[in-house]
Amino acid sequence: MRIVVLTGGIGGARFLLGVRAYAREVGADVTAVVNVGDDLLLHGLKVCPDLDSVMYTLGGGADPERGWGRVGESWTVKEELAAYGAEPSWFGLGDKDVATHLVRTTMLNAGYPLSRVTEALATRWQPGVRLLPATDDRLETHVVADLDGGRRAIHFQEWWVRYRAEVPTHQFVFVGAETAKPAPGVAEAIAGADVVLIAPSNPVVSVAPILAVPGLREAVTDGPAPVVGVSPIIGAAPVRGMADRCLAVLGVECSAAGVGRLYGPRAAGGLLDGWLVDEEDAGTVVPEVTVRAVPLRMTDEAATVAMVRAALELT
Ligand code: GDP
Ligand code: CA
Repeated sequence: MRIVVLTGGIGGARFLLGVRAYAREVGADVTAVVNVGDDLLLHGLKVCPDLDSVMYTLGGGADPERGWGRVGESWTVKEELAAYGAEPSWFGLGDKDVATHLVRTTMLNAGYPLSRVTEALATRWQPGVRLLPATDDRLETHVVADLDGGRRAIHFQEWWVRYRAEVPTHQFVFVGAETAKPAPGVAEAIAGADVVLIAPSNPVVSVAPILAVPGLREAVTDGPAPVVGVSPIIGAAPVRGMADRCLAVLGVECSAAGVGRLYGPRAAGGLLDGWLVDEEDAGTVVPEVTVRAVPLRMTDEAATVAMVRAALELT
């Protein structure tokens, strides 16, 4: 059995722990197609927050409390940069994390594509699933917001980390998406999948940028594999993070039904055959999509494996 997972960072990484455990039980093969819209250049270093969250989490090196970055992290580089007054200073750049970005940037500068660099980094972390960036090309999520008395476009990370998504916001733009190509292996993995799972990731800034790569949305909607999504929203709120702010910008209700309808039924050009919602949201209706309610809190690996099993049962 071949499972493809479309994923962002933290929520997707936790979900992948369950997918990997399930796959080990049944001998399935897992490919994670990871969002790159959060990627940015910082102090000359290429930082890929979602790829790193997934890689560190699956590799056992993530900080479980903070949710991002490395466990046992120190911050000397960040403090030294601040002593120089070097901007930007709002991004959490840990010392151990910097080593990852140095290796990545060196390889990128030597001409290796991001997919090959990711593969090289994974030889250390042994994530147990194939990690593929959605694209090797530069694709960055920018946010159009009112700042300093004017309307400006800023990088998603600046909007999210520096401004905590608390500024009047008008639009998300996936810069570079029009000319991006799927990374090698991505379209093939989707075409050869027995099932495509959409992780409980942020639909607006984690899943949408993946699908903005020309050809990828069609690969999923027109592909042979059934598609099942898992809701990142329980009740009227994201389990963690600020997905509610992102949904509000699109005018989408922050609920399992709202996100399910945003994704839409595959039968009508959307993404979903099945939609998994939390028990609390039992009764959720998404026209032309099979909806099932089960516990969706990823409290531990066993709970997450149960979610994965329920998602696969929907196919
Ligand atoms: P990011 O790129 O690091 O922001 O991570 P993702 O986009 O992959 O995931 C963020 C989403 O994960 C948020 O919208 C959360 O609501 C969701 N999430 C986090 N923990 C859980 C959980 O235990 N259950 C569910 N259903 N969603 C979760
Ligand atoms: Ca992200």
